[in-house]
Amino acid sequence: MPPFPQHLIDGYRTFTSQRLPTEQSRYRELSERGQSPEVMVIGCCDSRVSPEVIFDAGPGELFVVRNVANLVPVYQPDSAAHGVSAALEYAVNVLRVKHIVVLGHAQCGGIRAFIDKAAPLSPGDFIGKWMAMFIKPGEKVEQRDHETMADFTIRIEKAAVFRSLENLMTFPFVQTPVARGEVSLHGAYFGVAEGSLFVLDQKTKEFRSAREEFGE
Ligand SMILES: [Zn+2]
Repeated sequence: MPPFPQHLIDGYRTFTSQRLPTEQSRYRELSERGQSPEVMVIGCCDSRVSPEVIFDAGPGELFVVRNVANLVPVYQPDSAAHGVSAALEYAVNVLRVKHIVVLGHAQCGGIRAFIDKAAPLSPGDFIGKWMAMFIKPGEKVEQRDHETMADFTIRIEKAAVFRSLENLMTFPFVQTPVARGEVSLHGAYFGVAEGSLFVLDQKTKEFRSAREEFGE
């Protein structure tokens, strides 16, 4: 069997020598009392978009689910196994999170695959089927006249956040606490190149820079 990657061992050693000493008591406390994060983040698998890094979160702070293109499916209580729905159920019903953040991002490979529809994806591939949940039956997602491919891509990346927020509300166990004001839903978008974060203004349906809106 090939050896465990050395750079991961090295990274773990750095963790134990630098980060763990300052967080040891926190880990012990979390181990004894269990986790009670107030925030659930639904993000993309993309290696550049780590919620814990972006939000500078320590152990126990974020309950994170990551999947291709940060998608939440619609509520579908059938005989199939639903990973995102199971995590959502646990976060809301057991952990009682107060916030659910859908974190989209620039240069999303899942969205790229969805837009291109072409090779290397075949109809039998997993990504194609997974991304298909993004569109509603009969809905068409097309580049608008005079819209550049870059703008079209960003629009669809942000649309994935909107769709996930919409789909979250199809879950009865999300609807009820949201209506009671016990849980709030949020959208955000991360610009990889600049490390910029944009937060969704639910009233205007626009993403606003977190630096400008909320101060440095
Ligand atoms: Zn992505």
